[in-house]
Amino acid sequence: MSRIVVLGGGESGVGSAVLAKVKGFDVFLSDKGNIADKYVDMLKEWDIPYEMGRHSEELILNADEVIKSPGIPTSAPMVQKVTEKGISVISEIEFAGRYDSARKVCITGSNGKTTTTSLIYHLLQQAGLNVGLGGNIGKSYAYQVATEQHDIYVLELSSFQLDNVYDFKADIAIITNITPDHLDRYDYKMENYVKSKFRITRNMSADDCFIFCSDDEITINHLNQIVVKARKLPFSQKTEVEQGAFVKDDRMIVRYKDQECDMYLQELALGGKHNVYNSMAAAIAAKVMDIDNEHIREGLATFQAVEHRLEKVLSIRDVLYINDSKATNVDSAWYALECQTRPVVWIVGGTDKGNDYSSLVPLVKEKVKAVICMGVDNRKIHEAFGDIVSEMHDVTSAQDAVKTASGLASAGDVVLLSPCCASFDLFRNYEDRGRQFKEAVRNL
Ligand code: ADP
Repeated sequence: MSRIVVLGGGESGVGSAVLAKVKGFDVFLSDKGNIADKYVDMLKEWDIPYEMGRHSEELILNADEVIKSPGIPTSAPMVQKVTEKGISVISEIEFAGRYDSARKVCITGSNGKTTTTSLIYHLLQQAGLNVGLGGNIGKSYAYQVATEQHDIYVLELSSFQLDNVYDFKADIAIITNITPDHLDRYDYKMENYVKSKFRITRNMSADDCFIFCSDDEITINHLNQIVVKARKLPFSQKTEVEQGAFVKDDRMIVRYKDQECDMYLQELALGGKHNVYNSMAAAIAAKVMDIDNEHIREGLATFQAVEHRLEKVLSIRDVLYINDSKATNVDSAWYALECQTRPVVWIVGGTDKGNDYSSLVPLVKEKVKAVICMGVDNRKIHEAFGDIVSEMHDVTSAQDAVKTASGLASAGDVVLLSPCCASFDLFRNYEDRGRQFKEAVRNL
């Protein structure tokens, strides 16, 4: 019996271990840190041997294949040892793909992955298809392949999940956009990060579809240098396209083969220019999946925003509080500011990932009346905006941020949490940051 060792005991790792068990492998899971109770219970329930708090070489280096969780970098010493021994290292997605014959719609990109993935899932589900949602969202893909039966999967794939795919093939692949992010995991080389995103197009044939943003220079430049066999379906807010989607006047138009679907932008459930992109990408995918226009229009008009993504929390004395805690890089905050039509009290800051804030300066000048810096080290934010915004305040908790913001905001303003940064200096993660923000707003 061949031996599979899974490194990492989170959603992805435990899902992979369960699938390996179901497929009859000798499985072992190892996590150098702690494994959450929920996952320990699952490992016990499935009778899968595991260890935590260490990596025992004698139990790992005898593997025939290793499944590496996306959170573990390739440079981790144990991964290096495994590779040096000539053992193949694959990702959960590669492994689960071997046992899944469903059609796969796969989404990657720097921003908009979760929104676009959830939109597509919503469109397909509403049209009555038997569809599973997975990848970076909800239950792991591998666990679903082990325990459920779907005709279609909609999978959100981060670049880390794509790094170790080899034979996996998407039927429809989407790259929402590419802007610098996570460069620390790619030797600080943008080129490596771009290549990792484009792995989503590997193994595709002329019968498959590749959906991408033709307004995104980085995507287009790379696409011009490589061969992607799939049918190309761009979306754009700048130019009309023959096949794909574009904006004309106040409408979004989708063209696929000889079909066309159009919809007024103001009918889209999700506001903001970035969500026009996400809606176009989702609508093209739905059209390729043969969903009729009525279902597409209805789905895009009824979709509920995903938590922590430009989520409207409450309006108090005509001040609207918006939770965009998931905006963890400059580009996502740019879109969040761009779509505001009212004066903004902006809560920003956290763990800086080498941010260059200069692209935000014009928007901040135009829209932001006060900046609340919520981080341990706020120097870069003061340097970037201190000269253009007169009200700059430092806080170290969500509660103080909301209290300070409510003191500064007048009727008709927006208090926007769109931090541009990771959350780990003051919070457990972006969800924790968003929830603390919402809690503080509700307690005002
Ligand atoms: P991801 O899953 O890629 O992190 P999300 O859908 O969770 O993306 O959105 C994260 C944040 O990125 C949102 O709060 C929004 O501010 C911004 N955003 C969403 N879609 C786009 C897009 N297409 N282009 C740029 N920014 C976007």
